[in-house]
Amino acid sequence: MNKSKIKEQLLNFDHNHPQFLIRYSINLLIRIKNKLSKININKKNTMNNFNFYNPVKILFGKGKIAELSKNVPENARILMTYGGGSIFKNGVYDQVKAALKGFNVIEFGGIEPNPHYETLMKAVEVVKAEKIDFLLAVGGGSVLDGTKFIAAASLYEGELAWDIAAKSIAVTKALPLGAVLTLAATGSEMNSGGVITREATQEKFAFGSPVLFPQFSVLDPQVTFSLPQRQVANGIVDAYVHVIEQYLTYPMNTPVQDRFAEGILLTLIEEGPKASNSETPDYENRANLMWAATMALNGIITVGGKSDWSTHMIGHELTAFHGIDHAVTLAIVLPGVLRLMKDKRREKLLQYASRVWNINEGTDEQKIESAIQQTEAFFRQVGILTRLGEHKVGQDTIDRIVNRFTQRKMRAVGAQQDVSIANVGELLKTRL
Ligand SMILES: [Zn+2]
Repeated sequence: MNKSKIKEQLLNFDHNHPQFLIRYSINLLIRIKNKLSKININKKNTMNNFNFYNPVKILFGKGKIAELSKNVPENARILMTYGGGSIFKNGVYDQVKAALKGFNVIEFGGIEPNPHYETLMKAVEVVKAEKIDFLLAVGGGSVLDGTKFIAAASLYEGELAWDIAAKSIAVTKALPLGAVLTLAATGSEMNSGGVITREATQEKFAFGSPVLFPQFSVLDPQVTFSLPQRQVANGIVDAYVHVIEQYLTYPMNTPVQDRFAEGILLTLIEEGPKASNSETPDYENRANLMWAATMALNGIITVGGKSDWSTHMIGHELTAFHGIDHAVTLAIVLPGVLRLMKDKRREKLLQYASRVWNINEGTDEQKIESAIQQTEAFFRQVGILTRLGEHKVGQDTIDRIVNRFTQRKMRAVGAQQDVSIANVGELLKTRL
């Protein structure tokens, strides 16, 4: 029926006729409902549905490595994985060996920072040759991530295990694993994900699956005492940016998750500089940093909300091309992302400025800029250089990164797809 016909009918209609009144009332109700739902959408998003599952048993505190024997399956054939050998200097190796006396333990060392696929596949060969049925990662996030990949790749039936990461192939089975954490940073000890690098192609990809949760993780803050300052600083910044990636997006009416996130950020701001400015490590300080890093990425602050991860995705490329420490890449990229997002993510940025940095004066624009500056100053305070130029990275690398994203046919980075590839080059330019 066309418009003029409707008009004609309406004019001829008896406006007191019940049919007209009913139709009029229904139309009115629909209009009101539409208006209300529009207001709701604009005003407040609601928490998304979620399933939360985290089965990792945490053994936290002084001397907890001794409890390994009670947590590793009896009669297991264990592959103990580790990194560059710092566990021999800080006493962790001896503690683990003592705790696992009588167990069948084979060792695989040399897992590098940003663990290489090539190295991990050598461990898979050992797993198969030695009929390993339990993996024990002893180290920081790289050793843990690498060990998760070994767990998945050992039972992978496809042709190329790299596809688990590169093509995000679903991992449905994996060897069971446990962990002894030596560095608080990535949160890998209490989640089911990891990131690996393929040296041959300079690519870095994430992977994950519920079958990759460690069965247990031992967190003894004392083992972080011997870490070089650079690694302590990296851990603080990595944990901080993990929280930001899950928190600083869009309001979703998730006050519990928001306040958990803000609590972790405030703890890192309080405890971080103490750790990086002190010659002698303090147990309480290291304990709080360790638990903050674990809480930052065990899933609890992300449920029901909107996460981002664009800073990580851009940062991974800087590591892939230049081998820059993961946390350092985040400290470089994050201020650029936040400035770019200052209009779209205004509401959450203002909340961050007020609740985390106590910035309540000035215009919205000034508050946001001040919060971004404070964030960068905090990274520098714990000892991280936050500009590309300070790492001898120039425009040519920015072009390579943008080209790479374009070649992958990506239009945007991050879970919200609000950081467009066209803007990546621009934001990196502001970080030179
Ligand atoms: Zn990270």
